[in-house]
Amino acid sequence: VNRLLLLAIPALFAATAKAQSFDVSENALKAHVGFLASDTLQGRNTPSKELDACAEYIAAQFRRAGLEPAFGDSFFQMGDITNRRTGEVGQARNVGAILRGSDPTLATTYIVVSAHYDHLGAREPVEGTDTIFNGANDDASGVAGMIELSQILGAHKPKRSIMFVAWYGEEKGLVGSRWFVQHPPVNLKQIVANVNLEQIGRTDDSEGPRVAEANFTGFDFTDLPGIFQAANEGQDYKFTMHPQSSDSYFMRSDNMAFAAAGIPAHTISVAYEYPDYHGVGDHWDKLDYTNLAKTTRAVARGLSSLADRAEVPKWDRSLEKTKRFTEAYDKLMNGG
Ligand SMILES: [Zn+2]
Repeated sequence: VNRLLLLAIPALFAATAKAQSFDVSENALKAHVGFLASDTLQGRNTPSKELDACAEYIAAQFRRAGLEPAFGDSFFQMGDITNRRTGEVGQARNVGAILRGSDPTLATTYIVVSAHYDHLGAREPVEGTDTIFNGANDDASGVAGMIELSQILGAHKPKRSIMFVAWYGEEKGLVGSRWFVQHPPVNLKQIVANVNLEQIGRTDDSEGPRVAEANFTGFDFTDLPGIFQAANEGQDYKFTMHPQSSDSYFMRSDNMAFAAAGIPAHTISVAYEYPDYHGVGDHWDKLDYTNLAKTTRAVARGLSSLADRAEVPKWDRSLEKTKRFTEAYDKLMNGG
């Protein structure tokens, strides 16, 4: 028996065990949400200097993870935002980074993991009243989850590349995600899926508490949610279809820009409707951070599995409701 090899065995097991767990930090999630949803940032209106401060914060997190910038040598993509009342055109930023895949072939293709970092801004200040729409659950929670994913997935050396993007202007009509799809930093054919995170922090759903469970919008539109379910087999977490909201919310978030271009795309949410939705009371301390960490871990398992598969997610062509998206997919792939 080789004595040196024997000594190495516990270390090998330790390495394997580490490779299978996802080290999501509850306190890091709390720190991200606490900052993004603070009163100082005035509700992250698009465009605003406070939104720009958030963009810098997110870029700093990407730098910390050692990721590549998604837009040439920049983490920022400047995009237009039209004021619907005045018609004036301003500018705001998508913030994006790439975790390069470890497989030389799959590394040229991308899974886009996203969340919107803007919210509704603030009303005119009135002494003694809360006028700031903090948007802690909507959608600082999704941004915090995305940031943590950008920090932890690299340890698993995913085969396919993963692009992390924070959108501006979701609350102004899905503006940032549409801008990205119209001005993509890579060929859209190289993007195999979009997984968007929305409202994953609060568990006090208006229908009752929702713990260790998240929904996919457009649950049966593609086989992607099934891949996430399989990756969480035997874990204390499930991805499910909401009987009404899964379909009705499909077009209501930033995944829609990708779906409209033919790319399999979904939004993951823990609660669709909750007290304080689009209200000034959507504060950081109302989130369930233990569950947010649990959700982020479950999403990490799904993404890791998706990134290591050679097969790409596919629309279910047998459904009438996917017709528009499969037509867009065929057009994207065949150019006609
Ligand atoms: Zn939202």
